[in-house]
Amino acid sequence: MSITFYNTLTKTKEKFEPLEGNLVRIYTCGPTVYKDASIGNMKSYIFMDTLRRVLKYNGYNLKHAMNITDVGHLVSDGDEGEDKMLKAAREEKKTPLEVAKYYTKKFFEDFERLNIDKPEIICKATDHINDMMKFVQKLLDNGYAYETSTAIYFDVSKLDKYGILSGIDLRNQKAGARVEVDEEKKNPYDFALWIKAPENHIMKWESPWGLCYPGWHIECSTMSNKYLGEQFDIHTGGIDLVPTHHENEIAQSKGCTGKIPARFWMHCEFLLIDGGKMSKSLGNTYLVQDLIDRGYDPLSYKMLCFTSHYRNKLNFTWEGLTNAQNSLIKLKEGYVKHKAGTDDISTDKIQEYKTKFLEAINDDLNMPVAMSVIWEIIKSPIKSKKLADLLLDFDKVLGIKIDEPVKQKQEEIPKEILDLLEQRKTARSSKNWALSDELRDQIRNKGYNVKDSKEGMTVEKIK
Ligand code: AMP
Ligand code: ZN
Repeated sequence: MSITFYNTLTKTKEKFEPLEGNLVRIYTCGPTVYKDASIGNMKSYIFMDTLRRVLKYNGYNLKHAMNITDVGHLVSDGDEGEDKMLKAAREEKKTPLEVAKYYTKKFFEDFERLNIDKPEIICKATDHINDMMKFVQKLLDNGYAYETSTAIYFDVSKLDKYGILSGIDLRNQKAGARVEVDEEKKNPYDFALWIKAPENHIMKWESPWGLCYPGWHIECSTMSNKYLGEQFDIHTGGIDLVPTHHENEIAQSKGCTGKIPARFWMHCEFLLIDGGKMSKSLGNTYLVQDLIDRGYDPLSYKMLCFTSHYRNKLNFTWEGLTNAQNSLIKLKEGYVKHKAGTDDISTDKIQEYKTKFLEAINDDLNMPVAMSVIWEIIKSPIKSKKLADLLLDFDKVLGIKIDEPVKQKQEEIPKEILDLLEQRKTARSSKNWALSDELRDQIRNKGYNVKDSKEGMTVEKIK
């Protein structure tokens, strides 16, 4: 069955086929490891995970590289401000290397918690300084770059067209619209490839242009070229990378090899919080650890992401996450019921589910539709081991560990609540309903719901 992906480059859904046989070569822009990754960042990596899983499910082999930015990403996405790594190192009183090591480890711990399939190649910017330098030299040799007293800049006017991904028209842009106008810059959209380090800058390397450090964009062009070749199949990242980082990656690769590096450019829309952007720099972020601390299984967040298409914005609320967790529980219970089932089911029906599921995932990773097929199976009155096997097979794409129980941290109930609960039990056994209701309200005001059932009385934290 053919696969179609939406390509940001052509703004259309296109049929996907690898450039080379059965091997799909992918590059993903990885994290800047100066701070904990948020669940917003993880939305983009859950999308990356689904892409990997869908391609593998279709029988492709993958060669996938993801970078770790541990130098060069300045506080703004343009050429302004301090290097994020240096700022964090100063604030945390650590070396940039220590900061990078610490947050890289935490980043991959979140991958495990979310059952995200790790790319085959993980490459760090600071391990590729010499490769980057060679790339910059090539751009100078090819006439696409020039030196000033502060940096080596890419000259966007040398390209036949700059802005093919975002559709920006430079003729309509005012000078300095994006970055501060540097007197020595030829065009306001020229961006730094290599930055001359001030004396007190601690991350700097010897280069033909003195002690320098790389600009942010050059690492991705260099490492994708090194590991995947001049042209590969798919480049992914979050939507915010389109107008600056990916535009500049394309410019650099065109200047170096004459080619747009990837055929397909795929971008994940943002996770919002209270209708606005969730980002590390705005400080309104939640981490995977926050979800665990509040008693959620991290895979509930994956379920929440599957309720919307990756190209749609998703608004995060705790209520939404609770619903996703309940769905995860129901789904796993449904799997167990099928596993114990003895009903017969026709091969045609199984094939019908398979086709519908495959059509959905191969249609630009349409997970909401794929999930509707899953729910159809879960709700089927026919309970069959064959359906359990089918769900397990589909879980190769979902990665929600359908055959394992939900991991919920049992929160400790405070003693004060337990005491009120005891008082309420006494009130109810003496049929003092007014006191029982009053105690229930008191418990609720302290953030807990009381549930009465045949088995007795329980409390649950209000989320
Ligand atoms: P960073 O560590 O800031 O370089 O970002 C790592 C990845 O997360 C990039 O692909 C970003 O585009 C993506 N990203 C950042 N914030 C969000 C968000 N709120 N929702 C989805 N993706 C995001
Ligand atoms: Zn990148």
